[in-house]
Amino acid sequence: MQNIPRLSSIVDHLLQQIKPANSVYIVVGELTPYTEEQLRAQWSMLVADTILAQAVLFIRLVPAEQQCMVCFQKYHPLNKETFCPQCGSLGAKIIAGEEFYLDLK
Ligand SMILES: [Zn+2]
Repeated sequence: MQNIPRLSSIVDHLLQQIKPANSVYIVVGELTPYTEEQLRAQWSMLVADTILAQAVLFIRLVPAEQQCMVCFQKYHPLNKETFCPQCGSLGAKIIAGEEFYLDLK
């Protein structure tokens, strides 16, 4: 199975808490290379036989957004590709979609 280092460090962090979490919320951007299925599979493996084994995992997906470096149009990339729908330029800045963090409620 593909290793997801950022998920491992989130689990390590949670395991150091005094009181185990019942619900865990993570925020994952659309541009991260993992599917929700992969994330859940990895999570189950990491928390098995720990105090987090019964915790419920919630994944909030953040849609990707990019901004064209030429015409400054903001757009949602299709198939994770950079291509401005307005001017066709390939240069873009990623505004959202690369998130991967623990959401502390
Ligand atoms: Zn453009």
